[in-house]
Amino acid sequence: MKSSAQVVVIGGGVVGASVLFHLTELGWTDVVLVERKELTAGSTWHAAGGMHTLNGDPNVAKLQQYTVGLYREIERRSGQNCGIHMNGGLTLAGDRERMDWLRMAQARGRYLGMDMETISAAEAKRMFPLLEEQYFIGALFDRAEGHVDPSGVTRAYAACARQAGAEIYQHTRVSDLRQRPDGTWDVITEGGEIHAEHIVNAGGLWAREVGRMIGLELPVLAMEHMYLITEDMAEVAEYNAATGHELPMGMDFDGELYIRQEGGGMLLGTYEQACVPWSPRETPWTFDQQLLTPDLDRIAPSLEIAFKHYPALAEVGIKTVINGPFTFAPDGNPLVGPVPGVRNCWMACAVMAGFSQGGGVGLTLAHWMVDGDPGEDIWAMDVARFGSWASLAYTNAKVRENYSRRFRITFPNEELPAGRPLHTTPVYDRLTAHNAVWGAGFGLEHPLWFQRPGSEPREDVTFRRSNAHPVVADECTTVRERVGLTECSNFAKYRVTGAGSADWLQRLFTNRLPRAGRINLTAALDPSGHIVGEFSVARVGADDFFLFGSQIAEAHHSRWFGGHLADGVRFDVLGLSLVGLSLAGPGARDVLQSVTGASLATEDYPFMTFRRIDVGMIPAYVGRMTYTGDLGYEIWVAPEYQRALFDLLWQAGQPYGIGLFGFRALMSLRMEKMFGTWAREYRPIYTPVQARMHRSLKLDHDFIGRAAVEAELARGPARTLGYFEVSPDPAEPADVVGDEPIWHDGTVVGWVTSGAYAHYSARSLAFGYVPSELAVPGTMFEVEIIGQRRPARLLPEPVLDPAGQRMRA
Ligand SMILES: Cc1cc2nc3c(=O)[nH]c(=O)nc-3n(C[C@H](O)[C@H](O)[C@H](O)COP(=O)(O)OP(=O)(O)OC[C@H]3O[C@@H](n4cnc5c(N)ncnc54)[C@H](O)[C@@H]3O)c2cc1C
Repeated sequence: MKSSAQVVVIGGGVVGASVLFHLTELGWTDVVLVERKELTAGSTWHAAGGMHTLNGDPNVAKLQQYTVGLYREIERRSGQNCGIHMNGGLTLAGDRERMDWLRMAQARGRYLGMDMETISAAEAKRMFPLLEEQYFIGALFDRAEGHVDPSGVTRAYAACARQAGAEIYQHTRVSDLRQRPDGTWDVITEGGEIHAEHIVNAGGLWAREVGRMIGLELPVLAMEHMYLITEDMAEVAEYNAATGHELPMGMDFDGELYIRQEGGGMLLGTYEQACVPWSPRETPWTFDQQLLTPDLDRIAPSLEIAFKHYPALAEVGIKTVINGPFTFAPDGNPLVGPVPGVRNCWMACAVMAGFSQGGGVGLTLAHWMVDGDPGEDIWAMDVARFGSWASLAYTNAKVRENYSRRFRITFPNEELPAGRPLHTTPVYDRLTAHNAVWGAGFGLEHPLWFQRPGSEPREDVTFRRSNAHPVVADECTTVRERVGLTECSNFAKYRVTGAGSADWLQRLFTNRLPRAGRINLTAALDPSGHIVGEFSVARVGADDFFLFGSQIAEAHHSRWFGGHLADGVRFDVLGLSLVGLSLAGPGARDVLQSVTGASLATEDYPFMTFRRIDVGMIPAYVGRMTYTGDLGYEIWVAPEYQRALFDLLWQAGQPYGIGLFGFRALMSLRMEKMFGTWAREYRPIYTPVQARMHRSLKLDHDFIGRAAVEAELARGPARTLGYFEVSPDPAEPADVVGDEPIWHDGTVVGWVTSGAYAHYSARSLAFGYVPSELAVPGTMFEVEIIGQRRPARLLPEPVLDPAGQRMRA
């Protein structure tokens, strides 16, 4: 065994093997994999090996596409048979909503070049004669689906990595991990110690235990999962003889099951409602290539549907039932990337679909480690999307919810209930009393909209306009014509202090720093010029700053700032130690002025001012800006003052017709002002030039990514963020939700990042990236919304107040 290596990958399941392989592909060959038993000894060996490209997140779908496409290559290079069966797959819809979802998935796949087709139930029956047509209205057919041999794939990755110089030590458990002061690691194993620059946790079923070795409580939980294999079936043999190939895979929403051919019989797996976590607190180290006791009663409801939908199954004997555990994160996506706050420590775990995702996880993690950048948009898989609030019990609640909803649609306006409410601010009860409909982001409850008195605060979930539509319209009118009050605590807030803070931030930010008492907007880039964050920067002293950013990116951004920290600079995540309320609308100044001694006249308190003033008796930082694009203020206070602040403003606002507004109205208001948002318009795959963040980009100082920006400016961006007015179907209006393809002249040329109905301007609006040569105002496009291509015109400027007079008034 080597005593030192550049990387130690812990875990020889399909994921660890893929990471090892991809590291060697990128030229890191001093790499080892340490496996406590034998390769595949965790979840991998008993997996059903199914693979598909379909995923709710197009970026994850793209990585799944990569994974599926990789198997022939590793089979060829390793000589190891991967048991590849590319039979194609049918996702079967039994009702209109599911068919809509499939059409949307098909549309999302278009700009990724995914070759999927929606077909009728009759066609589905022709391709998969075992199904009973009456239970379906159609299906999505994807050629890039099939199944592989789990152990063959793992061994093929391992063999390719070994060919390139990687070493694999089996029957060698990692029992401890100790970090040295220089950030390198001593990996303590049963076979000796390895000094490593980097460690990768690919521990699968034991990822949690490996995390605990360094004091991390990872949001990972294993669930029991069952599939059964039938005896050989005459129907299967007939189909094979008649067509010369195997039956395609099937995913059946109603039955919450998947089905595929296995040998001469069928394999049927379920995601049952009565799901059961496995080893919820600790995974025993003694568990070794074992199976769990099957419990057919638990999956009986799914079997009952299966026997209806595929009657031949009811007639055939069951040959084997497999029950095995595999892991999930609270949202079902993997945990990948560098652990915030821990140097040289990488995650590749919670991969619930190792045969669809393992390749993509290995590829992106290896790029991240070798190049400092994952190379793809892996926001949905970043380990930093969870904070410390994702405790063991939270994870348990969310994973069970997620497992039982595996075949359920989550609508774009749907808020899932498990694990909530968890984080609340002091005004939670006040807002609940005003009939708030709540959503949650990064664990924190925030008001989406305020249902009318006497009606139940609940939103109908739909792909179209919900019962919130008219109420949100009123909230928008309140803001644009009178004054609205909302909570804005769901920003990430940071404080940067200490000698050298200004110099440090200036080197990170694309905009010049504001003067003391002022705010401005800025981006932060990586060396390749991609956007790693966008922030409001408020300066309160020479070396004293507040930064405001997207809350969902709090851990992601903290990791980035922490990784660049300079001596003497202090970077604090404020979390809920600073909470906020925001007043917006033409009456905002009058309301706030009535409760403060500070003059708010524009000459004294102009747009983008940020100062410490008293509001009533409450010490507050008040920034004159809001995301609504109207006259407005964000008022930041310690949490113990927030209720008093709410009561004070609510009372003071009564003569001005104050009303509450929520996040849905905010999204509508920001759209008509053409304000982009993090994780949609601004993501690490875009550049500030593409995103048209020119106002935040000042080339008069040096900053990370500047050379790349200059080069892009010189050659011109390949794509540009466009702003569109969309014409929805008048019969059944639906607005964009994000990720819809944008068509031009009969081809897909781009994709929507976000959009909303702009109530006050009465227009449906969207943002999306298109080739720069097409980003010409007035150009007509089409946006595919639920299977319909709707006209969309590229607009030159915000539909409301393009000169920005309202916010400067
Ligand atoms: C019944 C069933 C059916 C499934 N069907 C499918 C399917 O059809 N398609 C699909 O894509 N996925 C399927 N899966 C899920 C799939 O099995 C997992 O996504 C995949 O195996 C995860 O791989 P992994 O490498 O992350 O974890 P694991 O396979 O659990 O591997 C982790 C490895 O790390 C080792 N290890 C842990 N700790 C240490 C340590 N301290 N020292 C050394 N070694 C350590 C373990 O021994 C283990 O070998 C199924 C799972 C089950 C249970």
